[in-house]
Amino acid sequence: MTDHLLGMTGLSKVDIFRYLDVAQAFVEVSERDNKKVPDLRGKTVVNIFFEPSTRTLASFDIAGKRLSADTINVNASSSSMQKGETLLDTVRTIESMNPDVLVIRHSESGAPHFVAKHLTRTAVVNAGDGAHEHPTQALLDLLTIRQHFAAEGRGLEGLRVGFVGDVRHSRVARSNVWAHLALGNKIRLIGPPTLVPADFIKVFGSDDVSVVHNLAEGLQDLDVVVCLRMQLERQDQNFVPNLDEYSKEYCLSERLLMRHAPRSVVLHPGPLNRGTEISGEVADGPRSLVLRQVNNGVAVRMAVLSILAGSVESRTMSLGR
Ligand code: ASP
Repeated sequence: MTDHLLGMTGLSKVDIFRYLDVAQAFVEVSERDNKKVPDLRGKTVVNIFFEPSTRTLASFDIAGKRLSADTINVNASSSSMQKGETLLDTVRTIESMNPDVLVIRHSESGAPHFVAKHLTRTAVVNAGDGAHEHPTQALLDLLTIRQHFAAEGRGLEGLRVGFVGDVRHSRVARSNVWAHLALGNKIRLIGPPTLVPADFIKVFGSDDVSVVHNLAEGLQDLDVVVCLRMQLERQDQNFVPNLDEYSKEYCLSERLLMRHAPRSVVLHPGPLNRGTEISGEVADGPRSLVLRQVNNGVAVRMAVLSILAGSVESRTMSLGR
């Protein structure tokens, strides 16, 4: 059976650390003058994106190229789906050209899972499906957090992690929460009741998840704050009176962090909306790990592609070349 990466749901601590360990080795490769390794020479990676993307698409493309794969980017908005072809016919057509990995982003939750069920020879990677999951984002967030806390002699476990903002529509939050639960971390979901309903706790079925509607209270003693963008493109009604009102209550400021979580670091999956969910001072300040996240994104995607395309054993050899 072909392996896929469809979500963080169901991944064990061991699975997560395997991805992170391989990714860490690729961080080192990405810092070299010559960033190319031969691991996926002769392999083909197709990135098919049915939703707009800047950083994720660029990141997968760079990752594939650094591994020496042939990478092909299909902008699905200009593809034959516009001419009435079904998703299944599109991906089966692509599979007939024998790619090794298909990286898919889609606005419908579950689209990559559906595709994976129907393809027989191609590994599928979920690059974001609706409001459901974005596993490579969760892995790069974990790698970034791990690097930061390693410098303080701490690991990825025993952390208090908060997600602030539009949790309801965030695939980033969902994938991260599943991952932190696998690691045994405490999670706080923070935002207005419309975007963070109290019954979200039931979704995750764990006492380690709590919901807090007041930002100052939610930030109390957090180690990690993950700031979320308002996903207006997924909102089918008004969840907040307006963005100005929202930012008065929920924009992450240095003043609040200093007072309630002075030792915390801040992550944001991008794109940032400065002044709405995060102040410029926080985004550009010393506790922000935002650029480190983007940097780690390439290494994480190199790890995912090489593990799924089955070359990870030869990777150790290529690192020395
Ligand atoms: N880039 C992330 C995603 O694709 C987060 C965002 O768009 O706000 O889900």
